[in-house]
Amino acid sequence: METNEKKLLIDKRYDCPVCEKQIRAKAVKSNSARFVNTMADLRPIYSNINVTKYDAVCCSYCGYAALTPNFNNLTLTQKKLIQDKIQANYKSHEEPECDFYTTEMAISRMKMALLCTITKEAKDSEIGNVCLKISWLYQALADEIPDDAPDAATKKELYLKEADNAAMKSYKHLTNARMHENYPMAGMNETTLDYVLSYLAYKSGDYQTAMQYLSGVVSDRSASPRLKDKALDLKDMINKAKEQES
Ligand SMILES: [Zn+2]
Repeated sequence: METNEKKLLIDKRYDCPVCEKQIRAKAVKSNSARFVNTMADLRPIYSNINVTKYDAVCCSYCGYAALTPNFNNLTLTQKKLIQDKIQANYKSHEEPECDFYTTEMAISRMKMALLCTITKEAKDSEIGNVCLKISWLYQALADEIPDDAPDAATKKELYLKEADNAAMKSYKHLTNARMHENYPMAGMNETTLDYVLSYLAYKSGDYQTAMQYLSGVVSDRSASPRLKDKALDLKDMINKAKEQES
């Protein structure tokens, strides 16, 4: 995947809204990623690239980072918060050249986005969305470990634990967002968000709440067939887990 990954990417330019320097971030060329499927937590799988690695924009001069669609949407109050709490402590540097982002690099970029998202007191939906992407990236990192690597099992367990921690943070913030924000949030409509919340409730072991969120998804006539199929699969998973519990 790695030798070809460069060909699927372009360098996009941004003007940093915090320090006003011109920066670049790699982005996936449109129509170049080959979609395969989404996992139960909606982690998108493409056969030739992990697109989630390119979902954050980071400024190496001031430390400001955010998900691409949120990068330029900064209020004056938020700009001040980033300047005082991030830029003031950040070691400014030139952006290192690279052909593509490794999953480790993508995780540190997304963690920078999380720190900034919390610091700028962003909406719960934005924080929850960043946490969900961190969870996806750790799962990808676990998938990348060859079975015959030394400590493969230990490493995999560690990464999946990080993925679960991030997923549970996402669950907390997206639950708050559902109560207080309007749709679409975190790029999701009501049905898609309820599906994600159902999955995260299931992961947390709260099967009753998982079923409640899911009932709306299953009965929603406007939900896509793909999402409905996923909802039915999830229903089976929840029922199995409930059986095992009793
Ligand atoms: Zn900057």
